[in-house]
Amino acid sequence: MIPVNTPLLSGNELKYVAECIETGWISSEGGYVTQFETQFAQYVNRNHGIAVANGSAALDIAVKALGVGKGDEVIMPAFTIISPAQSIVTAGAIPVLVDSDPITWNMDVTQIEAKITSKTKAILVVHIYGLPVDMDPVLALCEKYNLKLIEDAAEMHGQTYKGKMCGSFGDISIFSFYPNKHITTGEGGMIVCNNDEAAEKCKKLRNLAFEPQGRRFIHYELGWNYRMTNLQAALGVAQLEKMEFHIQRKREIGNLYSKGLKELRGFQLPLVNTEYAENIYWVFGLTADTEEQKEVMVKKLSDAKIGTRPFFWCMHEQPVFQKMGLFKNESYPAAEKLARNGFYIPSGLGLTNEEIADVINVMIK
Ligand SMILES: *Cc1c(COP(=O)(O)O)cnc(C)c1O
Repeated sequence: MIPVNTPLLSGNELKYVAECIETGWISSEGGYVTQFETQFAQYVNRNHGIAVANGSAALDIAVKALGVGKGDEVIMPAFTIISPAQSIVTAGAIPVLVDSDPITWNMDVTQIEAKITSKTKAILVVHIYGLPVDMDPVLALCEKYNLKLIEDAAEMHGQTYKGKMCGSFGDISIFSFYPNKHITTGEGGMIVCNNDEAAEKCKKLRNLAFEPQGRRFIHYELGWNYRMTNLQAALGVAQLEKMEFHIQRKREIGNLYSKGLKELRGFQLPLVNTEYAENIYWVFGLTADTEEQKEVMVKKLSDAKIGTRPFFWCMHEQPVFQKMGLFKNESYPAAEKLARNGFYIPSGLGLTNEEIADVINVMIK
């Protein structure tokens, strides 16, 4: 069996986690949490890092910390994981969707401006699968209409846009450390920002909205317990030491697949690069010309004991949102095609070159 993801834990992970256990520092109080926050924030050129329980939690906090609430509209891609839409909806706000660019799979930024209304409070960008969103036009719109920018960089550790780190663009940006991301803490996430006040707000929301001063256990607002443990942060510090290697290996995997699958007809491979970035191949995705063709390929791979995952499912086609009356009669053709015809093949850091060759052979055959 070649699973769709296997993590790589080849550095100081065991040593640092063992130290947590030996010293008894296993909760969110512990030196590794602040060390991981400081080092990660530095890595993406931000003033503040706030470690949290997972990437979805980071989005909940980011949305609330920027004051998005009842009646506000937030513009975001139709094609993404549900987390950002869920954070917007649970904050009482309305996600307003934008179709995808069929080639980069990211939000088509030329379609954003037409969606801006007097209720628009923020734009939430999601960098998808390996290439960043074209940020300059988005930044210009935020400036022109005085909108907040939330950046979901959950899949973009170490990726850059025109030489600037992904995760350095948002008023608040977030990362995930789920085991299929470039570095992992098992479960985990990070909020990064430059503004001191926003950072304080995020820290407070992560910690049940305890007041930083005054009588403990008296609360003036609601937050969550979204804290990261020292055990997770210990993993994170060890993984961060391997960041450059992980990124290099992801690109190697991407390049091996790109070369090996070059002759594959009827499927579109990920772009190797755009004018503003080189693909970092969070996952190696393909889109088939037809849905049937995708089904056949996925079945052949499954018969050969090779794991695949379908692409995300569009937000306007989510039963949970349709039940709420959201996105009635809306359609986003490019996003719908990606959702139906796209899938990804084994892309984890634990993958060997022999396994990559096997996957290529089965697909070409
Ligand atoms: C992984 C991911 C998330 C969610 O992160 P979790 O840590 O799994 O909650 C959010 N957004 C995107 C784009 C992701 O890929």
